[in-house]
Amino acid sequence: MSDCIFCKIVAGEIKADVVYENEHVLAFRDINPVMPQHLLIIPKQHIATVNDLTPQHSETVGQMYLASAALAKELGFAEKGYRTVINCNRDGGQLVFHLHLHLLGGRAMGWPPG
Ligand code: 5GP
Ligand code: ZN
Repeated sequence: MSDCIFCKIVAGEIKADVVYENEHVLAFRDINPVMPQHLLIIPKQHIATVNDLTPQHSETVGQMYLASAALAKELGFAEKGYRTVINCNRDGGQLVFHLHLHLLGGRAMGWPPG
């Protein structure tokens, strides 16, 4: 997707603070963090929303969660706890239409979300 900001990050056309990458996923720091630790884990392949997932994406989605758990451990907040969130469409608060998992940690959070 030539006009997708996260595809441009995958392609190296826009700089990002990349913390992890493998053949399926890329993880980088959110440009506007809402928590002490705020990472985004994205598939390298363009998928717009959770609604667009098919069984063919199972490996990629699994890799996104495995990367988030590994990063939480590596960054030192796995034991205290953290949150993984994927916003979907308008009511879910999605602003960038390239699937991304928010990995949020570094302080205690409330529930339910607003
Ligand atoms: P959404 O609301 O779609 O779930 O979240 C999009 C996230 O992407 C936001 O937290 C926003 O700060 C982040 N973001 C948007 N553009 C960029 C960018 O160019 N670089 C980085 N690192 N994060 C971005
Ligand atoms: Zn994209």
